[in-house]
Amino acid sequence: MKNAVFAIALAAALTGCGGGERSPESAATAPSPPAAPAEAEPVPQPVDHAKINTQPEPVPKPVQLTQHEPIMKPKQATEEKIVKTDAEWRAKLTPEEYRILRRKGTERAFTGKFDHHFKDGTYTCKGCGTPLFLSATKYNSGCGWPAFYDSIKDTIDTVPDTSHGMVRIEITCKKCGGHLGHVFEDGPNPTGLRYCVNSASMGFVPTEKKPEASK
Ligand SMILES: [Zn+2]
Repeated sequence: MKNAVFAIALAAALTGCGGGERSPESAATAPSPPAAPAEAEPVPQPVDHAKINTQPEPVPKPVQLTQHEPIMKPKQATEEKIVKTDAEWRAKLTPEEYRILRRKGTERAFTGKFDHHFKDGTYTCKGCGTPLFLSATKYNSGCGWPAFYDSIKDTIDTVPDTSHGMVRIEITCKKCGGHLGHVFEDGPNPTGLRYCVNSASMGFVPTEKKPEASK
């Protein structure tokens, strides 16, 4: 009798039936007692993983927001990705840059050095030096972070971001994967987009000098 039950259970395990096992974590945490974790981190809201997983296409493909970019010509091919270890990034970046670029942090509003910076030049990725934004597309959105209505073509990846209980589009550097900020659809003409970028994620090369690629 016991063996029969065991055999059935084994068969079920082997065939992988059930289908309810999304991830090891959810399975493990499911039967936990109602006692709330006393020391929950100050992260806004627990993301509703179940909800996210019910999306028909959970593939985190970059959403192409490129609507109309007639003016920009392909600047450079950003084919090869820059891959560094965590330790290498820590060594290269300041703690604040590391927290934002590599840990998807956000600098406090109105504190970034480029929030009210309107010189002519090119904004580059602080992680790898790739030119990302032109000063001509920067505007004062009043949101507390540097804002651009367009990016240099093919330099930025967009990824759906459902953290903090919000649905946003994260923007990352195509070349090094560094977190830049988010893009919203409340920008001015001609694109209607607002690239909201952390100052700490960027460097700046004044127009006089040529923007230098990664060292
Ligand atoms: Zn980069």
